[in-house]
Amino acid sequence: MGIRNIVTNEDPILRKKSRVVTEINERIKILAEDLVETMREADGLGLAAPQVGVLRRVAVVQVGEELHVMINPEVKESEGEQLSDEGCLSVPGLAGRVYRPLKVRVSYTRPDGSVAEVESEGLEAVAFCHEIDHLDGILFTDKAEEIKSVHSEDSDEDSDKSSGEDADEAGDKSVGEEDKLSDGVSEEGERREL
Ligand SMILES: [Zn+2]
Repeated sequence: MGIRNIVTNEDPILRKKSRVVTEINERIKILAEDLVETMREADGLGLAAPQVGVLRRVAVVQVGEELHVMINPEVKESEGEQLSDEGCLSVPGLAGRVYRPLKVRVSYTRPDGSVAEVESEGLEAVAFCHEIDHLDGILFTDKAEEIKSVHSEDSDEDSDKSSGEDADEAGDKSVGEEDKLSDGVSEEGERREL
């Protein structure tokens, strides 16, 4: 147990609908713990069970201080609209802009069986919607307005054709590296991989 492998979009499991959890047994609790560990290890803001190959309605979100460990999460109400920059741990190398509700009210069951009702907005609302989409086999690339490829952390495959827009030639430090870091991260420097 512990950190699990994150499946990527070649895996058809990401396109399937996850089953409702009817009993919070030990396996579900371990799955939930592993999702938290795996999300943190991957430096993501959220993670859903299908992303580790399990078709059960379990997902985790942590944008700020509060960790949400969610069993059978549902969006009960949504309001407004925002255009969010998103990436996905299961869709490496791509980012896109997706219209999401500005605010959502989400309910879910905690691993201890208690029910949570959460009102959320901004990036956390995005994270809830993104993860709940995963439980229905939906990826952000299905909804994105524009999808662009971004450099994934250690790929040097693009280093040959760096479209030197404002990359000043004579690098004291490698400007390219700095640019890479900004990909998949919003202007405020928040990570948006979900
Ligand atoms: Zn995702």
